[in-house]
Amino acid sequence: MKVYKFGGTSVGSPERFRSLIPLISDGEVKIVVLSAMAGTTNELEEISRLYSDGDREGASRRTELLHAKYHTVADELYSSSMWSEKANDLISEQFNFITSLFSREFSRHNEKRILARGELLSTALLHFLLLETGISSSLIPALNFMRVDKDGEPDYFYIRENLKRELASVKDEKIIITQGFICRNVFGETDNLRRGGSDYSATIIGAALTAEEVQIWTDISGLHNNDPRYVENTKVIRNLSFSEAAELAYFGAKILHPSSINPARLKNIPVRLKNTMEPADEGTLITSASTLQDYTAVAAKDGIIAIRIRSDRMLMAYGFMRRIFEAFEAFKTPIDMITTSEVSVSLTIEDPTFLNDIVKSLSSIGLVEVERDQTIICVVGDFRPDRVGSAPEIFEALNDIPVKMISYGGSENSVSILINTSDKITALKSLSEKLFA
Ligand code: ASP
Ligand code: MG
Repeated sequence: MKVYKFGGTSVGSPERFRSLIPLISDGEVKIVVLSAMAGTTNELEEISRLYSDGDREGASRRTELLHAKYHTVADELYSSSMWSEKANDLISEQFNFITSLFSREFSRHNEKRILARGELLSTALLHFLLLETGISSSLIPALNFMRVDKDGEPDYFYIRENLKRELASVKDEKIIITQGFICRNVFGETDNLRRGGSDYSATIIGAALTAEEVQIWTDISGLHNNDPRYVENTKVIRNLSFSEAAELAYFGAKILHPSSINPARLKNIPVRLKNTMEPADEGTLITSASTLQDYTAVAAKDGIIAIRIRSDRMLMAYGFMRRIFEAFEAFKTPIDMITTSEVSVSLTIEDPTFLNDIVKSLSSIGLVEVERDQTIICVVGDFRPDRVGSAPEIFEALNDIPVKMISYGGSENSVSILINTSDKITALKSLSEKLFA
């Protein structure tokens, strides 16, 4: 059994919905995981924001606009009035549900219920389309099997047992459709796997069923060796290891949700990145095999804040690191990169929410400097500790750029370099020339 996941743009219009039919009806048994139509989750988030701000009128108005948009989609998508009526009924039901919440107090739980509508709609629209076309398929509700535990981690035991039960009820079916992104939390309430989480749904399902392969379908032919938005002549990476893919997904390659590699790696399930616009293209295949190329790819992550703590008291002393880390732990802020010298520690964070509190608490340790608008450049490649002479090209490429921090040796698959965001495009271009030309 394979798992196919289609992202928001792949179900972004009636035309795109239709183009999925040949891709999924090839006679092989598969679970089809869908995102919401492109833009929908953003819109639902905006509606929730208005609702939480107490602007119920604004929230209702926006809901009606989105509601109308879905009726237009349904009118265009189906050729028979029977199926367009069925779809329009379902659409009204989902949007009336949202509007009905506005008479109640806003809560995080109600917000999650609003956000879940996008995937509930897209999966039903595809299911109806297949039925209208005369292709047998079944829809199984993700909320009947997808669940996270008290730490927000997939509850594999629960997921496996319940998914197997759902699948047993649609025995002999070739196309089984379900929602990405949405799940239940430890209290059994509607929740989600966070933005972009449909990829994660697909690999969790793949791991729970020990699937043959998970295919993530988007509108680009796999991961590129540099950012095509800034660099010309980037190339698709044909093969990638789980570790390399995880680094790239984390450091900016938007094509894959960073958490989605874990479940696949856990059960050693190949993940293939495919393009709905060019289905014949083999895309990128992610497996446990290492590529062992000197350099595989470059990615950049913006919005980084650098913090440096300096204190002469650190000299030959111990316990400083613990105190520094405690300041971040107290404010639940993850640290990305870290480098140390005898009297100073530099590190980076992404989440600025508690920056002031953190700086205040670090001030008792030493002198604190903060620098915003930083970018981490991540070079993925072969950096195993026994290798020699692999990195000079990186530093030659960055010769004319102020390098703020370097993290080498933490990972066998990557080197991270901190630069000013204003130097990012120059750095990416220059790295491409030096490493991949
Ligand atoms: N629809 C959700 C989002 O936009 C999940 C996903 O697309 O993966 O974040
Ligand atoms: Mg996505």
